[in-house]
Order: sequence, then C-alpha cells, then structure tokens
Amino acid sequence: MRPSSLDPLFADATNLPGIGPKLAQTLQDFVGDKIIDLLWHLPSNLIDRQYRPSLADVEDGRIATFEVTIVKHQAPPRRHLPYRVTCQNDTGFLSLVFFHARGDWLQKALPVGETRMISGRVERFRDNLQIVHPDHMLNQHEFEQLPVIEPVYPLTAGISAKVLMKAAQAALPRLPQLDEWQDAQWIEKNQWPNWHDAMRGAHQPEDLAALAPLHPNRARLAYDELLAHQLVLALVRRQRRQLPGRRFHIDDKMQNAFLAQLPFALTGSQQQAIDDIQADMQSPTRMLRLLQGDVGSGKTVVAVLAMLQAVANGAQATIMAPTEILAQQHGETIGPWLDALGIRWALISGRNKGKQRQARLADLASGDTQIAIGTHALFQDDVVFKDLGVAVVDEQHRFGVHQRMSLSSKGQGVDVLVMTATPIPRTLTLTAYGDMDVSRMVDKPAGRKPISTHIFSMDRYGEIAGNLKNVLADGARVYWVCPLVNESELIDLQAAEARFKELQKLYGEQVGLVHGQMKAAEKDAVMAKFQAGDIRVLVATTVIEVGVNVPEATVMVIEHAERFGLAQLHQLRGRVGRGLDKSTCLLIYRGPLGQTARSRLEIMRDTEDGFVIAEEDLRLRGAGEVLGTRQSGLPTFRIASLEDHAALLPTVHDDVKLMLNNDPNLESPRGQALRCLLYLFRRDEAIRYLHSG
Ligand code: ADP
Ligand code: MG
Repeated sequence: MRPSSLDPLFADATNLPGIGPKLAQTLQDFVGDKIIDLLWHLPSNLIDRQYRPSLADVEDGRIATFEVTIVKHQAPPRRHLPYRVTCQNDTGFLSLVFFHARGDWLQKALPVGETRMISGRVERFRDNLQIVHPDHMLNQHEFEQLPVIEPVYPLTAGISAKVLMKAAQAALPRLPQLDEWQDAQWIEKNQWPNWHDAMRGAHQPEDLAALAPLHPNRARLAYDELLAHQLVLALVRRQRRQLPGRRFHIDDKMQNAFLAQLPFALTGSQQQAIDDIQADMQSPTRMLRLLQGDVGSGKTVVAVLAMLQAVANGAQATIMAPTEILAQQHGETIGPWLDALGIRWALISGRNKGKQRQARLADLASGDTQIAIGTHALFQDDVVFKDLGVAVVDEQHRFGVHQRMSLSSKGQGVDVLVMTATPIPRTLTLTAYGDMDVSRMVDKPAGRKPISTHIFSMDRYGEIAGNLKNVLADGARVYWVCPLVNESELIDLQAAEARFKELQKLYGEQVGLVHGQMKAAEKDAVMAKFQAGDIRVLVATTVIEVGVNVPEATVMVIEHAERFGLAQLHQLRGRVGRGLDKSTCLLIYRGPLGQTARSRLEIMRDTEDGFVIAEEDLRLRGAGEVLGTRQSGLPTFRIASLEDHAALLPTVHDDVKLMLNNDPNLESPRGQALRCLLYLFRRDEAIRYLHSG
C-alpha cells in the first residue's frame, strides 16, 4: 500500500491550475497524469529577465529579453514557410519567427510602430538574429508583472510554456517532507539537500548554475532515480533467482570428450566463464548470465560447453544468432563438433521452407533434435521444444530484452546465456544488465598476432588502393568497408558501389561487393566466394559487422572511420587477426578531423583491448552513444543521465546491495523510506516482490 504521505503527489494533475481534461490527456502522454509525474519534469532552462543584452552582443542560444519596436510583418509567401515579424532597436534588428501562425492574431499582438518586450531563445540564422516562437511578447506594464527568474520546462506540442510553468509551480507546495532514503553519511558527505528541498530548488533555479546536472539539487535527485532503478533491478534479479530453475548435473565425460577434440587449451577466461556457468546450471535457480568477451575471445566454445551439459542431462539446447550468415557459420563450426560426439542437431532458420521446415520442427518437438542452431526464426510460435534446458543468445546487442525473455519461455526454467562482443564499461554494465550475472572474458586465445592499425586521410586513397597490389600478390584477403554515411541507404549503397567499381578496375574479378540490400542468398554466395578465396577484396557496407569468420583475411580498410562508434570499429577490426598471419587495419578519415574524432581514432590505433576502448569511448562520447541507447535496452531516466551521473553508479550499486543484505524486505525505517522512493518513481511494481521474502 502506498504511504498516505504521498497522496497529495498522486492526485490527478487536473487538480492543478490551468490543467483541464483536454490538457490532462496531452500531459499524460507527455509525462504522466499525476502531480508527481509533472514534478519529475524539471526545468531545462530559465528566463532571467535581467539578461537584457544589446542585439549586437547577445550570446547565441541564450534566452534573452529585448525592448524593440515592431517594424514590419511578412506573411509567408507559401504554405509551410513561417510568418516573420521584423523588430528593431538602437543596437540592431531581430526577426520573430512563427510557424502555422494566425496573421490576424499576430497583427494585434505586435502592432507595427509599437514597443514590445520580447523574451525567448535567440539564434543566429544566416546573418540574422531570430527568435522562433518567443516566450513573451508583452508591453512594458505586463512585463513588469513577471517574476525576474522563471523556470522553463521542456515542452511538447499542445502544452504552452506558461501553462506548464504555472502548474509545476502550483504543485510545489504539495511536496511533503519525507523520511530520508539515502544513506545519512553519504548525504552528509555530499552536502546534498533533503528530497523536499532538492525538488523545490530544482523547480526554482536561481541561476544557470542551478540547472547543471551536478548541482547538489539535481545530483541528489539523479541519485534517487538511479537508486530506485537499481533497487528494482536487484529485486527483479532476486525474484528471478527464486523462480524454480532446474538443477543440472555436470557431466565430465561429455565435456572431456569435447575438449579432447579441440586443437587448443582453454584460456583462463574461458575456464572461468565455464565455471561460472556450471555453477549456475547446478544451482536450483535459473541462469541469466551475460558473457562479455571481445571478438575472437572464444565465446563459441563456452556456449557449446553449456549446451552439452543440457544434452548430457537429457534436455535440449539452442543457440540463436542475429543473422542468417552467423547461424550458418555456427552450424559450420559447431556442427562437426557435435557430430563427433554423436549429438543430433539442426539448423532452424527462416530459410527452411515447406516439408523440410516441418520435418525439422517435428524433430525438435519430439526431442529427436538435441541442439538447435538458428536465428530469430526460433522465436516463432510453431517452434516447440520437447524440453529446452539451455538457451544461448549470441551477439546480444541485436536482440531486445523482450526477445531474450521470449526465448526462455520456450521451456521450463530455461537457463539463459547471453553473449555479447560489445565490451561495455563496467559502470554501464550494471545499468544495462543489472538483472544479469556477468562473466567477462579478458584473455585472448594464445597465438593471436597483434593487428597493426594505421590512420590515413582520404587524400591518400590512390596510394592505398595502389598498395593493395602488393598485398594481394602476397595472397592476402581484404575487407573494404564503406559505412552508412547518409540518411539514405540508397546513397550509401551508391558510395559502396562506386568504390567497388573503382577497385574492380584495378583488380578485376578478385573484387566482390556485399551490402544490406542484397537478398540473403546473394549475400551468402558472395561471402562463400570470399571464404573460398575466389574473391580477395570484399567491398562491404557494415553487413559484415557481426561475427563473420574468415581467418585468411588480414587487411581491414575502413573508410570514413570517423563516422563509426569505437565499439563498431573495434568489432570490424576484429574480423581480421583471426589467422596465423599478421594483420593490418587502415582507418581512413575524411578531414578535417576535430580533436575528439582524432583522439578516438588514436585510441583505436593504440590499443586492441575492447574494454579499454569502451571506457575511453564512454569518456569521449557519453553513455547514450556508446551503447546506442535504442539497441541496448538501456533505461530512460527522467533526471539522471548516464553522461553526467555515471560516476554515481558504483555507489548506488553498493548501496543497494548492502541495503538488501541488511534489510531484505525493506522493513527498517530506511527500508520503508526506500519503498516510498519506488512509489515516487513509479517503480512500485517491484514492491510486490518484497512480500514473497
Ligand atoms: P568469439 O568470441 O568472437 O565468438 P569465437 O568463438 O568465434 O570467438 O573464436 C574465435 C576463434 O578462436 C575460433 O576459430 C576458435 O576456434 C578459436 N579459439 C577459441 N578458443 C581458443 C583457445 N582457447 N585457443 C586458441 N584458439 C581458440
Ligand atoms: Mg561469436
């Protein structure tokens, strides 16, 4: 039950002045329908009426106020163009810009020849100063009625700044004093205000510094939000652990028979990961483990060992890859290993059709097939396992959390192993995958040759293309990657095709092209030729990004390298350096390079350690971009941002762990306060996990 002290905050937003039923609907879609939802919506700017610069030296992008005379109105010459009003004072000109404006209304509000106080965000457009949709257009008298400093809230269509501001300010007196949920010493050490004061302060910023993410008010609230989020993850994880899983017995015989086939010994990291996984599988709780390991660190072998244990226990297992090519490749590597052990396996992909598909599905449903290797096609409803024990999801970043879960629903208490080659900085792992246990593989298989990486400007294209001659004479195989540059896939494709034609002129039939618009079968045909060595220079858009294994490829050329994320560059580079020969990677940029862009390429040149690269990428670019927020299933926060508050995460994590150790059901005073916090952040679904104890 929600503590009654929170009731004022959980009243409908329609209780606030200016929020009628119609606005309430818009508001609901925007932030939520309760007062608390509005209160978590913090100002992103402020209007300081004291900032009254001259038009000559106003700072670009700031909200400023000017006293101006209205000079002329310009109705839009065509639809979709804005309405413009030109104003002037002693120091210069200012344009006011209105989209979808009603001319008659503007004529009345801004009569030519009159003086008005205009507030809004100033932009320089070409050589003109302009304000698009000013916040205020008032006469002197009206202007004097306004507060000197006014918070400005992020807007959505259909709600005006003034309405939002008034409603939020009217909500402030409803803020209750609540018991502290943060650790007393921690609060003390940071000199953070209590929640009530932090909220008030955040909504009534006195200066621009108060809007900074690390201002005590904001930092405190960000910590609150991260705390609520991590607490929920921890509770979910604990809950998951309490769900019945199955207890597998570890079968050394099958494992040893498998290991005896391998021409190499396991790395320390592989051994550690296998130990982790086996411990999970032996325990009566479900496994949900993330295996992070750089490209080439040998995750496949680990996956196979996990699957073998399921089979040894009479259950089935599956490994799911993000693309057809990768599923095929898994079939090619894993298949023979399984054959040698007498294990029946099948490839299940979108390409199985008709009778063949039905036969494969029937074998899976009867349990005749012990291991299924496949793609998304494994999710389809008609794919039924007799008894799925272990599911491996390869290259996790291509799958959503939802898909991950739906695979585990294909059996009873399925143990799930998620594998990713995207090295994620430690701090972010907790945030993105806090519900999973993590094994990190840091050692590389022995005998890997370092890849030497060089940075070139596109100016030297001729030289590089010419040099391929020697490279090819030595028998090498080359990837040549043309990235997605434009919004339009078609234009990108043209770029790759143009490069393909140019290289073909130089090297003839040895040059091939593979891109995302090709049919799967065509793609496979080209890849197969490259694998066989019939094609020796493979021009590609980023379709080769994930997992493709051609050990003979020793040169990776990446055009427009500055456009890629470091993680992606790292993945691409990982396509070479897989064989016995020394490999090279050429990062080609189109200048001029900014400082950050240059630093990023230099990191690539200087290290091959994916985790180091990820940490540096985080430092240089911020979390959202490192993870590609959309793909990662990373949570979106109201106040916290991973760019600004990532440094708080380790503390939050420790805090949660300690708290749940000491007070597993959140019953102590601090525990009760934490429950409040979960309500405030609307994460109270997790509270029901508390009673089950
Ligand atoms: P990834 O982690 O990128 O999926 P793979 O599992 O494809 O890496 O392994 C890359 C290559 O390294 C494969 O050819 C694999 O057989 C080989 N390999 C795996 N483990 C070892 C090891 N311990 N020693 C030597 N080679 C290994
Ligand atoms: Mg792999």
